[in-house]
Amino acid sequence: MKLTFQKIDLHLRHTFTIARSSRDVEPCIIVRLEHDGITGLGEAAPSDRYGETPESVLVFLERVDLSGIGSPFELQQITGILQRISPRDFSARAALDIALHDWIGKKLGIPLWKLWGLDPTKTPKTSFTIGIDSLDVIRRKVREAAPYPILKVKVGIPNDEQIIDVIRSETDKPIRVDANEGWKDRQKALDKILWLEEKGVEFVEQPMPDSQLDDIAWLREKVTIPLIADESVKTLKDIPRISHAFDGINIKLMKSAGLYEAMKMIHAAQAVGMKIMLGCMIESSVAITAAAHLSPLVDYADLDGHVLVSDDPFQGVEIIDGKLILNDCAGLGVRARDGMGL
Ligand code: MG
Repeated sequence: MKLTFQKIDLHLRHTFTIARSSRDVEPCIIVRLEHDGITGLGEAAPSDRYGETPESVLVFLERVDLSGIGSPFELQQITGILQRISPRDFSARAALDIALHDWIGKKLGIPLWKLWGLDPTKTPKTSFTIGIDSLDVIRRKVREAAPYPILKVKVGIPNDEQIIDVIRSETDKPIRVDANEGWKDRQKALDKILWLEEKGVEFVEQPMPDSQLDDIAWLREKVTIPLIADESVKTLKDIPRISHAFDGINIKLMKSAGLYEAMKMIHAAQAVGMKIMLGCMIESSVAITAAAHLSPLVDYADLDGHVLVSDDPFQGVEIIDGKLILNDCAGLGVRARDGMGL
């Protein structure tokens, strides 16, 4: 198996601001895994929230040695090897997991959704994310989001109410809210959520920091709309730890280290009656399409990372009237766009 990788920069259409950070460029690492004349594509989108950087991904990938492995079909064994190299490098392991799955689908000549027996017509509609910004820019972003039927709004700052009021003055679309751990005081968080309920908000993602899990459980008893864990849940083992505090989980391949673990998380969350959302970082169509293949199994999708950038070098899953449209091509069904140098 031959592994090659390269770092590329994805440029955001608008400066992307959430409760803890702001950025214009998001680096990602594209991975190619070649074996038996077939190349699997993968992607790492490292997040500083989890202590990962493009450099840490590259260091990890340099350390990967799969010389003892016969083929990418040995997914379970390979997953174990990667975990032992470094349990903390989630996005780097996700890149390899995605490439392995793409290779397997291509080798078998079927798309991943078919490999898993899923119905591609059951994909949910994805939300479109509105980052924190001035009220004028937020108004413009809401207008630009006209093709998307569901909005996900980043909050977690003192003027949250003004942001929601501006959006509600423009549209009555369903709104989902993500505080990105931005509220630290539980009484203030409660007041905000009760106010958001009155505005018809569908759910709130990660209202308070993961370190305040007891406060989130306290909130959950007092509000009606679902609370969805994001920063509080990375992998399967987090689900029992947080299930008392949240109504659902936001699974991201860059947190779970890929599709193999994400599938296990979906089954575990279903078993304990939690809602399931599939989310993303700022990513190209490689990682977004990988997640989209799982989406027939989930309640909510927030897979818009590739449409928030202006120079996605790949194309795969399409979004039509918000709905995720998977194609019939083998593996991920992703190809490089012409003229993008990849
Ligand atoms: Mg989130």
